[in-house]
Amino acid sequence: ADLGSRVAVALRKMAQAPLVDKDVLNEMLTEICKALLQADVNVAQVKHLRESIKKNVDVESLASGMNKRKMLEQAVCNELCSMLDPGKEPYAPKKKQANVIMFVGLQGAGKTTTCTKYAYMHKRKGFKCALVCADTFRAGAFDQLKQNATKAKIPFYGSYTETDPAQIAAEGTAKFREEGYEIIIVDTSGRHMQEAALFEEMQQVSDAVAPDEVIFVMDSSIGQAAHEQASAFKKKVAVGSVIITKLDGHAKGGGALSAVAATGAPITHIGTGEHVEDFEDFEVKSFVSRMLGKGNIAGLAPEMMKRLTQGNWTLRDMREQFQAVLKMGPLSNIMNQFPGMGGLDFHESGARIKKHHPLEVVELLDQFKLMATTMQKTIKKNKKMGKAGQDLHNMDAATVAQMMHKMNPQMLQHLGGQAGLEQMMAEMEK
Ligand code: GDP
Ligand code: MG
Repeated sequence: ADLGSRVAVALRKMAQAPLVDKDVLNEMLTEICKALLQADVNVAQVKHLRESIKKNVDVESLASGMNKRKMLEQAVCNELCSMLDPGKEPYAPKKKQANVIMFVGLQGAGKTTTCTKYAYMHKRKGFKCALVCADTFRAGAFDQLKQNATKAKIPFYGSYTETDPAQIAAEGTAKFREEGYEIIIVDTSGRHMQEAALFEEMQQVSDAVAPDEVIFVMDSSIGQAAHEQASAFKKKVAVGSVIITKLDGHAKGGGALSAVAATGAPITHIGTGEHVEDFEDFEVKSFVSRMLGKGNIAGLAPEMMKRLTQGNWTLRDMREQFQAVLKMGPLSNIMNQFPGMGGLDFHESGARIKKHHPLEVVELLDQFKLMATTMQKTIKKNKKMGKAGQDLHNMDAATVAQMMHKMNPQMLQHLGGQAGLEQMMAEMEK
């Protein structure tokens, strides 16, 4: 299990204890610290987390009516948030000057994809962006970058014949500097950890272009290896920020803690898909929430929330909401993360229906209405209780999961697949 899940398990165990006392607290802290240490998070940081939680939540002297469980959970979240904050302002490219940004990371981490996403995002913010392909190792590397860049309408530079990546990088950056580009992104090749040549080459590229910023791109599913990997890069080049990719998958991204610890660099963005727009600013609270399996990802987008409170919630919103929840992993796992909702095995109930029933559109519409009212009620209730946005988001995920739990398994199966979903939407719109 990855770091996030282990911390989540420790929290859940604490939440389910009949009485939260010193022993329960100690047991929880021991488990959390063990998980952090095994993920190579720095010892001093782990010790700090332990002491800080003990200091902030005195379980023995708290009145019994106080919600100790919630307080402890909050304290753990807060500590994880501060571990993800290295206390350093992230690099911000400046307009009207050349910002050379070099991307580094292992092969397959998502560098080339992320380069284009980064350029695309900044282009929308009004920067003049360009891409340089300094990967001469991977066959088709230049074509990949070219294709991505062309799609996003971003100028690029590379070569099919030159084999020295430092040479190409130098030429490309010089050309774009001259042409007044503001963000010049240098994509490098990533090989495997064992290959000293990769690090050698990366250093040469770095020397050749003198980057204003080096971004370390890390796959969120890397887990245990994160610390070693991040430190290896940090030793050779001046890693200034970190981007975590593939957060749309099942990985919870616990390795991010180690990456920050190893590099002392802040996480600036996250990759949430293969598409150029699947790129977001890093938001520490929702990241931690997700790391602990609370799936803020499934929370309502603000505009959706607005539509819901105004009574304008659409079937399409419901579909989006379902998809977001399904992205969090198998439904039974999600359910287990919310108190009192575990226990039902969806695979089993799905398998029981052997015959392929026609889609029950009426049933779906009923579900939709029920879901809209339930969610409206939850939002109203939460507003009354003055709950913060984050809580509200988590609550929404729980509400959606609960609704799905009650649904016809056949229908759920259809909701799970994009094709089934499209078919259902089409039928409903008839
Ligand atoms: P590189 O070797 O580091 O340049 O990695 P690439 O950019 O070529 O990416 C490797 C694979 O990961 C490609 O298939 C990408 O489409 C995919 N990928 C990159 N970022 C993401 C992401 O955020 N989510 C998903 N699902 N796939 C990604
Ligand atoms: Mg690449």
